[in-house]
Amino acid sequence: MQYLRFKIFPSNILALSLTKNHGLRVFASHRNIISEKTQQFLKTEFEIEHKQLFYCRQTHSDKTKILTSQSKYLNQNYDGLMTAKVKTALLIKHADCVPIFLYDQKQKVIALVHSGWKGTKLKIGLKTLKSMETNFGSQAKDILIAIGPCARQCCYFFNQNQEHAQLLKNPEWFEFIQQKDKFYFLDLVGFIKQMFFTAGVLKNHIEDCGICTICASSYHSYRKQKKEKQERINGISLMMIK
Ligand SMILES: [Zn+2]
Repeated sequence: MQYLRFKIFPSNILALSLTKNHGLRVFASHRNIISEKTQQFLKTEFEIEHKQLFYCRQTHSDKTKILTSQSKYLNQNYDGLMTAKVKTALLIKHADCVPIFLYDQKQKVIALVHSGWKGTKLKIGLKTLKSMETNFGSQAKDILIAIGPCARQCCYFFNQNQEHAQLLKNPEWFEFIQQKDKFYFLDLVGFIKQMFFTAGVLKNHIEDCGICTICASSYHSYRKQKKEKQERINGISLMMIK
């Protein structure tokens, strides 16, 4: 298996998360390189040329960029990308953070979001949905959402001394943090789903792949790489209107 494809979207929407065979090397300079092998794979498998790929610096922010006809490669800071243009492939990199795919069936708009704990705390997914409403006249009830491989509550924990501990003070998060001894296990996906349901997304309009990047060996995990002192490589998710 080289990629995970989501079933919730109609056949004209390409939405997938690539497995470990196709990682993206990450450099401190923010120059993220898509390997020749992955470029070739995208071309052969999905007829996506490198020049059709749009990606940007990701900084765990709550900013989403709308790609219009003038958009070129973005050497800018965003954690979400949105477009109504066909054959414009949105790409995000992620390891344990949550890839969120959104598609408005009525207005034919797609968005792809990188939502780690910081982005989730800032509700980047919800802000992206709101941006679809403002800029494209979308309505929450028409939006289909898929959630890709990410760190799940089974494995994703923090302690009192970590930055994440600030979440313990926010009642919105109580339901999604479980304490076991000195550790707190975080359910990012649970928080994200609740956030979308509250905004009016329908229960049967969210597909969650359920895969945990820390448990599953076929996906990149930052926590796993750090622990095993491996080179830092990210996973990739892609979305495109064909
Ligand atoms: Zn796990």
